[in-house]
Amino acid sequence: GSASRYDFVIVGGGTSGLVVANRLSEMKGFTVAVIEAGDSVLNNANVSAVTGYGRAFGTEIDWAYQTEDQTYAGGSKQIIRAGKAIGGTSTINGMSYTRAQKVQIDAWEQVGNDGWNWKNLFTYYKKPEEFQVPTPEQVARGADYYIAYHGEHGPLKVGWPRAMTNSSVLPQLDETFQQLGLPYNRDCNGGSMVGLTVHPNTVDREANVRHDAARAYYWPYQHRPNLKIISNTSANKIIWESDSRNEAVAIGVEVTGVNGVETIYASKEVILSAGSLRSPMILELSGIGNPDILRQFDIAVQVNISTVGENLQDQTNNGFSYEGNDFWLGSPTFSALPSADHIFGEDVLTIASDVNSSLAEYAKRVSEHSNGAVQEANVLAAFQLQHDQIFKSQVPYAEIVFLPIGNSFSSEYWPLLPFSRGSVHINSTDGSQPPSINPNYFMFGQDLKAHADVARYIRKAFSTSPLRTVVGEELAPGQKHVPENASDSIWEGWVKSQYRSNFHPVGTASMLPRDKGGVVDPELRVYSTKNVRVVDASVLPFQLSGHLTSSLYAVAERASDLIKKRYIF
Ligand code: FAD
Repeated sequence: GSASRYDFVIVGGGTSGLVVANRLSEMKGFTVAVIEAGDSVLNNANVSAVTGYGRAFGTEIDWAYQTEDQTYAGGSKQIIRAGKAIGGTSTINGMSYTRAQKVQIDAWEQVGNDGWNWKNLFTYYKKPEEFQVPTPEQVARGADYYIAYHGEHGPLKVGWPRAMTNSSVLPQLDETFQQLGLPYNRDCNGGSMVGLTVHPNTVDREANVRHDAARAYYWPYQHRPNLKIISNTSANKIIWESDSRNEAVAIGVEVTGVNGVETIYASKEVILSAGSLRSPMILELSGIGNPDILRQFDIAVQVNISTVGENLQDQTNNGFSYEGNDFWLGSPTFSALPSADHIFGEDVLTIASDVNSSLAEYAKRVSEHSNGAVQEANVLAAFQLQHDQIFKSQVPYAEIVFLPIGNSFSSEYWPLLPFSRGSVHINSTDGSQPPSINPNYFMFGQDLKAHADVARYIRKAFSTSPLRTVVGEELAPGQKHVPENASDSIWEGWVKSQYRSNFHPVGTASMLPRDKGGVVDPELRVYSTKNVRVVDASVLPFQLSGHLTSSLYAVAERASDLIKKRYIF
């Protein structure tokens, strides 16, 4: 019936999807539907609590995807968390708001995505933002910023939690890192990220709740007559016009919801925003992907793009913990963002050259893993660019967060730019079955080495004054498991036995020229389709040194403008 026909159908009401839904429904006279597998979490305390990080894990709003056995990382499976709710993963994430290094966004244009550069995206980094200027008390606890980096009129509240950690911590960290040569960075959100920083969060300070995509982009706009969320409903596949010839034309989306299986029709466009582990799967179920894979499931090929679901890039996370000699209250947002120079010290040139001479072999192995779907030359070009970012541009190579809470002082860290590449593909023709996910963690020696060297760097920081006077015994990894001056193999063994996913998967429907392995063009349209786009973490061609949501909000804002330009004049 007419109730299930809209101009735009968006699959996934998550971080990116709700931005697009909000902006497209600003066009009066156009209707927008959002298909979302999850439900409202507006009144879910596991979501709203500012100090509730982790409470939603393993509950019904966590997809808790499982990877394949991780061959290069000790063999076991890993869990990759992702939000299943109106608001998506922004409802369960760590709320950190950090962008990217300027060169990382400029690289998008450099590889052929016209218009995608730092200068253009900076406008869109600011557009979503309602920056909450810190109070004098928050400034005293380390909140710091350049107002020129921030937007003040957007829907998303960005700032520091009402209760920030005791004011002594920042000077202690700063004095420690000054001795390790890492400078203080007042505001890491202007494109220059290296240093010690007290970054903002996506938080509503006054209401003292998490500010997720739903609170920012949906709930205040829920009464728009042309905007509808169809929740508790899962999209299976795109339905095509039967005589699609040169270009595939989408006419709707098959969904399974409260009324069983039905089609939601789209008169203008279908936009996939189901996340980087899900959007490629929907493409495959719809006949867009690698014919070798589609054939295994008897799916007719609509568009042959062999790289759908390839190029998966995630990071790995690990932690330290110490007894505290103090007692800390409040929510910490301290991060150290060292570059390769800081981490590798005087070995950096040797390591840069070793890695450089391994890149051809790395690229060959990635291509082999994909059964040739990914071309060796394309991966090699991407690796050379990444090598330049790490060793020439000196972008942040690791993030180290410091968590002084109660009487413990712990730290989580993750190398930001591993070379490992994996994939996500369908396992069945049933849209409700999770995909097969293989990030290939620690596929390459450098990824493991980086992990061990960052860990050494952290231990060095904790044994440098004044930080050393603030903490007591090291509980994890602990001298018993990893003694002082432990060998590479002991550190690496510990890393493999303790790591987890950092939950930052990107790249599975990359925005790149088609002959470079791209799935979407610079307007985020899937190649050889007339009216299907992907707008979510899938389209990021390369991993970033920032947490992802700030960049995803920016990409979704710019994508919305690109779409709207075609309908309003
Ligand atoms: P999502 O926000 O995941 O949206 C996808 C939506 O699609 C979901 O709502 C999902 O339910 C829905 N969906 C999926 N399949 C279907 C289907 N078939 N039919 C209908 N709907 C479907 N980033 C930061 O910036 N700061 C942090 O501190 C931070 N911490 C993190 C901590 C954790 C535990 C996790 C998991 C991630 C974290 N991230 C963080 C990463 C960041 O939150 C995600 O990268 C980002 O939210 C992903 O946005 P997205 O739009 O790509 O997808």
